[in-house]
Amino acid sequence: MRPFDFQRAASESEAIAAAAAGARYLAGGTTLVDLMREEVETPEKIVDINRLPLNYIRAMDEAIVIGALARMSEVAANQDVRRLQPLISETLTEGASPQLRNVASIGGNLLQRVRCPYFRMLDAPCNKRVPGSGCSAIDGLNAGHAILGTSEHCVATHPSDLAVSLVALGATLSLKGPRGERTIPVEELFRLPESTPHLEHTLEPGELIVEVQIPNGPYARKARYLKVRDRSSYEFALVSAAAALHVENGTIQEVRIAAGGVGTRPWRMNAVEQALVGKPAARASYEIAAAISTEETRPLSHNGFKVKLLPATIVRALEMAGDVA
Ligand SMILES: Cc1cc2nc3c(=O)[nH]c(=O)nc-3n(C[C@H](O)[C@H](O)[C@H](O)COP(=O)(O)OP(=O)(O)OC[C@H]3O[C@@H](n4cnc5c(N)ncnc54)[C@H](O)[C@@H]3O)c2cc1C
Ligand code: SF4
Repeated sequence: MRPFDFQRAASESEAIAAAAAGARYLAGGTTLVDLMREEVETPEKIVDINRLPLNYIRAMDEAIVIGALARMSEVAANQDVRRLQPLISETLTEGASPQLRNVASIGGNLLQRVRCPYFRMLDAPCNKRVPGSGCSAIDGLNAGHAILGTSEHCVATHPSDLAVSLVALGATLSLKGPRGERTIPVEELFRLPESTPHLEHTLEPGELIVEVQIPNGPYARKARYLKVRDRSSYEFALVSAAAALHVENGTIQEVRIAAGGVGTRPWRMNAVEQALVGKPAARASYEIAAAISTEETRPLSHNGFKVKLLPATIVRALEMAGDVA
Protein backbone atom coordinates (compact mmCIF):
# COMPACT_ATOMS: atom_id res chain seq x y z
CA MET A 1 0.00 0.00 0.00
CA ARG A 2 1.28 3.49 -0.84
CA PRO A 3 1.70 6.03 2.01
CA PHE A 4 -1.13 8.55 2.43
CA ASP A 5 -2.19 11.41 4.71
CA PHE A 6 -4.94 10.52 7.18
CA GLN A 7 -7.41 12.92 8.75
CA ARG A 8 -10.41 12.24 11.01
CA ALA A 9 -13.22 14.74 10.37
CA ALA A 10 -15.13 16.11 13.37
CA SER A 11 -17.84 17.80 11.30
CA GLU A 12 -19.46 17.58 7.90
CA SER A 13 -17.95 20.90 6.84
CA GLU A 14 -14.46 19.72 7.81
CA ALA A 15 -14.95 16.50 5.86
CA ILE A 16 -16.30 18.29 2.80
CA ALA A 17 -13.45 20.82 2.84
CA ALA A 18 -10.91 18.00 2.97
CA ALA A 19 -12.61 16.11 0.13
CA ALA A 20 -12.91 19.25 -1.97
CA ALA A 21 -9.12 19.58 -1.57
CA GLY A 22 -8.62 16.07 -2.93
CA ALA A 23 -9.09 13.69 0.03
CA ARG A 24 -11.16 10.49 -0.32
CA TYR A 25 -13.93 9.73 2.17
CA LEU A 26 -13.41 6.62 4.28
CA ALA A 27 -16.49 4.92 5.77
CA GLY A 28 -16.31 1.15 6.42
CA GLY A 29 -13.28 0.84 4.15
CA THR A 30 -14.36 -2.56 2.75
CA THR A 31 -14.03 -1.30 -0.81
CA LEU A 32 -11.53 1.53 -0.49
CA VAL A 33 -8.92 -0.09 1.78
CA ASP A 34 -9.15 -3.31 -0.23
CA LEU A 35 -8.33 -1.44 -3.44
CA MET A 36 -5.61 0.63 -1.77
CA ARG A 37 -3.96 -2.57 -0.54
CA GLU A 38 -3.88 -3.84 -4.12
CA GLU A 39 -2.73 -0.39 -5.36
CA VAL A 40 -5.69 -0.20 -7.74
CA GLU A 41 -6.57 3.02 -5.93
CA THR A 42 -3.75 5.24 -4.66
CA PRO A 43 -5.28 8.30 -2.95
CA GLU A 44 -2.79 10.65 -1.33
CA LYS A 45 -5.26 11.80 1.34
CA ILE A 46 -7.99 10.03 3.27
CA VAL A 47 -10.63 11.67 5.43
CA ASP A 48 -12.34 9.34 7.90
CA ILE A 49 -16.03 10.28 8.21
CA ASN A 50 -17.02 7.74 10.85
CA ARG A 51 -17.37 10.36 13.62
CA LEU A 52 -20.02 12.30 11.69
CA PRO A 53 -23.57 11.91 13.07
CA LEU A 54 -24.82 10.06 10.00
CA ASN A 55 -25.55 6.67 11.52
CA TYR A 56 -29.34 6.74 11.94
CA ILE A 57 -32.55 5.15 10.70
CA ARG A 58 -35.75 7.23 10.97
CA ALA A 59 -39.23 5.96 10.17
CA MET A 60 -41.34 8.90 8.97
CA ASP A 61 -44.93 8.83 7.68
CA GLU A 62 -43.92 9.18 4.06
CA ALA A 63 -40.47 7.58 3.99
CA ILE A 64 -37.75 5.68 5.79
CA VAL A 65 -34.67 7.86 6.08
CA ILE A 66 -31.28 6.19 6.48
CA GLY A 67 -28.04 8.02 7.26
CA ALA A 68 -25.08 7.30 4.98
CA LEU A 69 -23.05 5.81 7.84
CA ALA A 70 -25.70 3.32 8.97
CA ARG A 71 -24.21 -0.15 8.60
CA MET A 72 -25.74 -2.70 6.24
CA SER A 73 -26.43 -5.17 9.07
CA GLU A 74 -28.09 -2.51 11.28
CA VAL A 75 -30.39 -1.45 8.47
CA ALA A 76 -31.26 -5.03 7.51
CA ALA A 77 -32.20 -5.88 11.12
CA ASN A 78 -34.08 -2.67 11.91
CA GLN A 79 -37.73 -3.35 12.80
CA ASP A 80 -39.10 -0.28 10.97
CA VAL A 81 -37.16 -1.17 7.83
CA ARG A 82 -38.38 -4.77 8.00
CA ARG A 83 -41.99 -3.61 8.46
CA LEU A 84 -42.14 -0.70 6.01
CA GLN A 85 -39.41 -1.56 3.49
CA PRO A 86 -38.91 -5.34 3.60
CA LEU A 87 -37.24 -5.24 0.17
CA ILE A 88 -34.35 -3.23 1.63
CA SER A 89 -33.88 -5.62 4.52
CA GLU A 90 -33.94 -8.66 2.22
CA THR A 91 -31.60 -7.07 -0.33
CA LEU A 92 -28.99 -6.12 2.27
CA THR A 93 -29.06 -9.59 3.79
CA GLU A 94 -28.34 -11.07 0.36
CA GLY A 95 -25.12 -9.02 -0.02
CA ALA A 96 -21.52 -9.72 1.07
CA SER A 97 -21.04 -11.64 4.37
CA PRO A 98 -22.20 -10.98 7.97
CA GLN A 99 -18.76 -9.65 8.92
CA LEU A 100 -18.64 -7.27 5.96
CA ARG A 101 -22.22 -6.10 6.54
CA ASN A 102 -21.31 -5.17 10.13
CA VAL A 103 -18.69 -2.74 8.83
CA ALA A 104 -19.93 -1.62 5.39
CA SER A 105 -22.00 1.56 5.23
CA ILE A 106 -24.99 2.47 3.09
CA GLY A 107 -23.20 5.40 1.41
CA GLY A 108 -20.10 3.31 0.71
CA ASN A 109 -22.24 0.51 -0.69
CA LEU A 110 -23.62 2.77 -3.40
CA LEU A 111 -20.12 3.92 -4.37
CA GLN A 112 -18.38 0.54 -4.31
CA ARG A 113 -16.23 -0.15 -7.39
CA VAL A 114 -16.77 -2.75 -10.08
CA ARG A 115 -15.91 -6.42 -9.65
CA CYS A 116 -14.48 -6.90 -13.14
CA PRO A 117 -11.33 -9.00 -12.52
CA TYR A 118 -9.28 -6.95 -15.00
CA PHE A 119 -9.95 -3.80 -12.98
CA ARG A 120 -7.82 -5.32 -10.21
CA MET A 121 -5.07 -6.75 -12.46
CA LEU A 122 -2.54 -3.95 -12.64
CA ASP A 123 -0.89 -5.34 -15.78
CA ALA A 124 -4.17 -5.69 -17.76
CA PRO A 125 -5.57 -2.85 -19.91
CA CYS A 126 -8.63 -1.33 -18.22
CA ASN A 127 -10.20 1.98 -19.22
CA LYS A 128 -11.78 2.34 -15.82
CA ARG A 129 -8.43 2.11 -14.00
CA VAL A 130 -6.25 3.74 -16.66
CA PRO A 131 -8.36 5.82 -19.10
CA GLY A 132 -7.47 5.11 -22.72
CA SER A 133 -5.64 1.83 -22.01
CA GLY A 134 -8.36 -0.44 -23.46
CA CYS A 135 -10.85 -2.96 -22.11
CA SER A 136 -9.57 -6.48 -21.45
CA ALA A 137 -13.04 -7.88 -20.80
CA ILE A 138 -14.55 -7.28 -24.24
CA ASP A 139 -12.40 -9.99 -25.84
CA GLY A 140 -11.56 -11.72 -22.56
CA LEU A 141 -13.47 -13.51 -19.82
CA ASN A 142 -16.82 -11.73 -19.64
CA ALA A 143 -19.40 -14.19 -18.30
CA GLY A 144 -20.11 -11.92 -15.35
CA HIS A 145 -20.30 -8.72 -17.39
CA ALA A 146 -23.15 -6.52 -18.55
CA ILE A 147 -25.64 -6.94 -21.39
CA LEU A 148 -27.27 -3.52 -20.97
CA GLY A 149 -25.74 -0.05 -21.07
CA THR A 150 -22.34 -1.24 -22.29
CA SER A 151 -19.99 0.73 -24.53
CA GLU A 152 -16.90 -0.17 -26.55
CA HIS A 153 -14.92 1.24 -23.61
CA CYS A 154 -16.34 -0.74 -20.67
CA VAL A 155 -18.77 -3.61 -20.07
CA ALA A 156 -18.54 -4.01 -16.27
CA THR A 157 -21.75 -4.44 -14.25
CA HIS A 158 -22.60 -2.25 -11.30
CA PRO A 159 -22.10 -4.54 -8.30
CA SER A 160 -24.39 -3.12 -5.58
CA ASP A 161 -27.52 -5.10 -4.68
CA LEU A 162 -28.84 -2.26 -2.54
CA ALA A 163 -28.68 0.19 -5.46
CA VAL A 164 -30.98 -2.09 -7.49
CA SER A 165 -33.70 -2.05 -4.85
CA LEU A 166 -33.32 1.67 -4.14
CA VAL A 167 -33.75 2.39 -7.86
CA ALA A 168 -36.83 0.15 -7.98
CA LEU A 169 -38.36 1.94 -5.00
CA GLY A 170 -37.69 5.45 -6.36
CA ALA A 171 -35.39 6.40 -3.46
CA THR A 172 -33.60 9.76 -3.30
CA LEU A 173 -30.24 10.88 -1.90
CA SER A 174 -29.42 13.99 0.09
CA LEU A 175 -25.99 15.34 -0.76
CA LYS A 176 -23.84 18.07 0.75
CA GLY A 177 -20.89 19.63 -0.98
CA PRO A 178 -18.77 22.77 -1.24
CA ARG A 179 -21.58 24.40 -3.25
CA GLY A 180 -24.39 23.50 -0.84
CA GLU A 181 -27.07 20.83 -0.52
CA ARG A 182 -29.16 19.02 -3.11
CA THR A 183 -31.36 15.96 -3.52
CA ILE A 184 -31.21 13.56 -6.45
CA PRO A 185 -32.96 10.30 -7.35
CA VAL A 186 -30.65 7.36 -6.61
CA GLU A 187 -31.06 6.40 -10.27
CA GLU A 188 -29.28 9.62 -11.27
CA LEU A 189 -26.22 8.84 -9.14
CA PHE A 190 -24.88 6.34 -11.67
CA ARG A 191 -23.36 7.18 -15.07
CA LEU A 192 -23.26 4.98 -18.15
CA PRO A 193 -19.66 4.14 -19.13
CA GLU A 194 -19.87 5.63 -22.67
CA SER A 195 -16.37 6.92 -23.54
CA THR A 196 -15.46 7.81 -19.93
CA PRO A 197 -15.89 4.66 -17.81
CA HIS A 198 -13.52 6.05 -15.15
CA LEU A 199 -16.30 8.54 -14.25
CA GLU A 200 -18.81 6.35 -12.43
CA HIS A 201 -21.11 8.73 -10.60
CA THR A 202 -22.59 12.22 -10.79
CA LEU A 203 -21.28 13.53 -7.45
CA GLU A 204 -19.45 16.82 -7.68
CA PRO A 205 -15.92 17.08 -6.23
CA GLY A 206 -16.13 16.89 -2.45
CA GLU A 207 -19.83 15.97 -2.36
CA LEU A 208 -20.83 13.80 0.59
CA ILE A 209 -23.79 11.40 0.59
CA VAL A 210 -25.68 12.38 3.74
CA GLU A 211 -28.76 10.15 3.70
CA VAL A 212 -31.14 8.14 1.56
CA GLN A 213 -34.92 8.59 1.63
CA ILE A 214 -37.03 5.58 0.63
CA PRO A 215 -40.71 6.46 0.01
CA ASN A 216 -43.31 4.28 1.75
CA GLY A 217 -45.38 3.74 -1.42
CA PRO A 218 -48.26 1.23 -1.38
CA TYR A 219 -46.04 -1.18 -3.36
CA ALA A 220 -43.22 -1.10 -0.80
CA ARG A 221 -44.56 -3.87 1.43
CA LYS A 222 -45.33 -6.28 -1.41
CA ALA A 223 -41.78 -6.41 -2.64
CA ARG A 224 -39.03 -9.02 -2.99
CA TYR A 225 -35.42 -9.30 -4.18
CA LEU A 226 -34.25 -12.34 -6.11
CA LYS A 227 -30.51 -12.77 -6.58
CA VAL A 228 -29.26 -15.52 -8.89
CA ARG A 229 -25.57 -16.31 -8.40
CA ASP A 230 -22.95 -19.04 -8.67
CA ARG A 231 -23.22 -19.96 -4.97
CA SER A 232 -25.94 -19.20 -2.46
CA SER A 233 -24.06 -16.71 -0.27
CA TYR A 234 -21.03 -14.41 -0.28
CA GLU A 235 -21.28 -13.91 -4.04
CA PHE A 236 -22.24 -11.12 -6.42
CA ALA A 237 -25.32 -11.44 -8.65
CA LEU A 238 -25.24 -13.00 -12.09
CA VAL A 239 -28.73 -11.58 -12.49
CA SER A 240 -30.97 -10.09 -9.83
CA ALA A 241 -34.39 -8.46 -9.78
CA ALA A 242 -36.17 -6.24 -7.28
CA ALA A 243 -39.94 -6.27 -7.78
CA ALA A 244 -42.60 -4.29 -5.90
CA LEU A 245 -46.32 -4.58 -6.58
CA HIS A 246 -49.49 -2.71 -5.69
CA VAL A 247 -52.41 -4.98 -6.51
CA GLU A 248 -56.14 -4.34 -6.00
CA ASN A 249 -58.78 -6.98 -6.70
CA GLY A 250 -56.20 -9.04 -8.55
CA THR A 251 -55.23 -6.19 -10.90
CA ILE A 252 -51.82 -4.50 -10.90
CA GLN A 253 -52.18 -0.79 -10.03
CA GLU A 254 -48.50 0.03 -9.80
CA VAL A 255 -45.31 -1.97 -10.18
CA ARG A 256 -41.62 -1.19 -9.74
CA ILE A 257 -38.89 -3.39 -11.18
CA ALA A 258 -35.11 -3.00 -11.41
CA ALA A 259 -32.45 -5.52 -12.35
CA GLY A 260 -28.87 -6.08 -11.22
CA GLY A 261 -25.97 -8.08 -12.67
CA VAL A 262 -27.02 -7.14 -16.20
CA GLY A 263 -26.45 -3.40 -16.51
CA THR A 264 -23.48 -1.07 -16.28
CA ARG A 265 -25.68 0.64 -13.72
CA PRO A 266 -28.73 -0.60 -11.76
CA TRP A 267 -31.34 -1.04 -14.47
CA ARG A 268 -34.91 0.18 -14.03
CA MET A 269 -37.31 -1.81 -16.22
CA ASN A 270 -39.68 0.98 -17.24
CA ALA A 271 -41.12 -0.74 -20.33
CA VAL A 272 -41.79 -3.95 -18.40
CA GLU A 273 -43.55 -1.93 -15.69
CA GLN A 274 -45.74 -0.13 -18.23
CA ALA A 275 -46.75 -3.44 -19.81
CA LEU A 276 -47.96 -4.74 -16.44
CA VAL A 277 -50.16 -1.90 -15.19
CA GLY A 278 -53.85 -2.84 -15.45
CA LYS A 279 -53.03 -6.53 -16.05
CA PRO A 280 -53.91 -9.44 -13.75
CA ALA A 281 -51.26 -10.17 -11.12
CA ALA A 282 -50.53 -13.60 -12.57
CA ARG A 283 -47.65 -15.51 -14.16
CA ALA A 284 -49.04 -15.16 -17.70
CA SER A 285 -48.93 -11.35 -17.47
CA TYR A 286 -45.47 -11.45 -15.89
CA GLU A 287 -44.07 -13.62 -18.69
CA ILE A 288 -45.41 -11.42 -21.50
CA ALA A 289 -44.09 -8.25 -19.87
CA ALA A 290 -40.71 -9.70 -18.81
CA ALA A 291 -39.95 -10.68 -22.42
CA ILE A 292 -39.60 -6.94 -23.13
CA SER A 293 -36.60 -6.77 -20.75
CA THR A 294 -34.31 -8.38 -23.33
CA GLU A 295 -35.08 -5.98 -26.19
CA GLU A 296 -32.00 -3.78 -25.84
CA THR A 297 -29.59 -6.40 -24.55
CA ARG A 298 -26.17 -6.78 -26.21
CA PRO A 299 -24.58 -10.03 -25.03
CA LEU A 300 -20.82 -10.59 -25.15
CA SER A 301 -19.01 -13.82 -26.05
CA HIS A 302 -19.54 -15.53 -22.67
CA ASN A 303 -22.65 -13.98 -21.13
CA GLY A 304 -25.46 -14.85 -23.57
CA PHE A 305 -27.05 -16.94 -20.80
CA LYS A 306 -28.00 -13.67 -19.06
CA VAL A 307 -30.42 -12.85 -21.89
CA LYS A 308 -32.48 -15.91 -20.92
CA LEU A 309 -31.91 -15.58 -17.20
CA LEU A 310 -33.05 -11.95 -17.01
CA PRO A 311 -36.76 -12.40 -17.90
CA ALA A 312 -36.93 -15.64 -15.89
CA THR A 313 -35.56 -13.80 -12.84
CA ILE A 314 -38.03 -10.94 -13.26
CA VAL A 315 -40.97 -13.36 -13.56
CA ARG A 316 -39.94 -15.23 -10.42
CA ALA A 317 -39.33 -11.99 -8.45
CA LEU A 318 -42.82 -10.77 -9.44
CA GLU A 319 -44.33 -14.07 -8.34
CA MET A 320 -42.51 -13.84 -5.02
CA ALA A 321 -43.71 -10.24 -4.55
CA GLY A 322 -47.26 -11.30 -5.44
CA ASP A 323 -47.12 -13.97 -2.74
CA VAL A 324 -46.33 -11.46 0.04
CA ALA A 325 -49.42 -11.36 2.26
C1 LIG B 1 -15.73 -10.03 -0.39
C2 LIG B 1 -16.77 -9.00 -0.63
C3 LIG B 1 -18.03 -9.41 -1.04
C4 LIG B 1 -19.03 -8.44 -1.29
N1 LIG B 1 -20.28 -8.84 -1.72
C5 LIG B 1 -21.21 -7.90 -2.00
C6 LIG B 1 -22.49 -8.27 -2.48
O1 LIG B 1 -22.81 -9.45 -2.66
N2 LIG B 1 -23.39 -7.28 -2.74
C7 LIG B 1 -23.09 -5.96 -2.55
O2 LIG B 1 -23.95 -5.09 -2.79
N3 LIG B 1 -21.88 -5.58 -2.09
C8 LIG B 1 -20.95 -6.52 -1.82
N4 LIG B 1 -19.72 -6.14 -1.39
C9 LIG B 1 -19.38 -4.72 -1.36
C10 LIG B 1 -19.65 -4.11 -0.02
O3 LIG B 1 -21.03 -4.06 0.20
C11 LIG B 1 -19.03 -2.70 -0.09
O4 LIG B 1 -17.62 -2.89 -0.05
C12 LIG B 1 -19.44 -1.82 1.05
O5 LIG B 1 -20.84 -1.66 1.09
C13 LIG B 1 -18.78 -0.46 0.92
O6 LIG B 1 -19.11 0.30 2.06
P1 LIG B 1 -17.95 0.92 2.98
O7 LIG B 1 -18.62 1.70 4.03
O8 LIG B 1 -17.00 -0.14 3.43
O9 LIG B 1 -17.28 1.87 1.90
P2 LIG B 1 -15.79 2.44 1.80
O10 LIG B 1 -14.88 1.37 1.34
O11 LIG B 1 -15.42 3.18 3.03
O12 LIG B 1 -16.02 3.50 0.63
C14 LIG B 1 -16.39 3.09 -0.67
C15 LIG B 1 -16.37 4.31 -1.58
O13 LIG B 1 -17.43 5.20 -1.22
C16 LIG B 1 -16.92 6.47 -0.86
N5 LIG B 1 -17.80 6.92 0.24
C17 LIG B 1 -18.09 6.23 1.37
N6 LIG B 1 -19.03 6.88 2.08
C18 LIG B 1 -19.35 7.99 1.38
C19 LIG B 1 -20.26 9.06 1.59
N7 LIG B 1 -21.07 9.11 2.66
N8 LIG B 1 -20.33 10.06 0.67
C20 LIG B 1 -19.53 10.03 -0.44
N9 LIG B 1 -18.64 9.04 -0.68
C21 LIG B 1 -18.57 8.03 0.22
C22 LIG B 1 -15.48 6.25 -0.49
O14 LIG B 1 -14.69 7.41 -0.70
C23 LIG B 1 -15.11 5.13 -1.45
O15 LIG B 1 -14.80 5.66 -2.72
C24 LIG B 1 -18.73 -7.08 -1.10
C25 LIG B 1 -17.47 -6.68 -0.65
C26 LIG B 1 -16.49 -7.62 -0.43
C27 LIG B 1 -15.14 -7.16 0.05
S1 SF4 C 1 -15.07 -4.00 -18.38
FE1 SF4 C 1 -14.58 -1.97 -17.56
S2 SF4 C 1 -13.60 -2.49 -15.62
FE2 SF4 C 1 -13.50 -4.34 -16.89
S3 SF4 C 1 -11.58 -4.26 -18.05
FE3 SF4 C 1 -13.14 -3.32 -19.30
S4 SF4 C 1 -12.90 -1.13 -18.79
FE4 SF4 C 1 -11.96 -2.25 -17.14
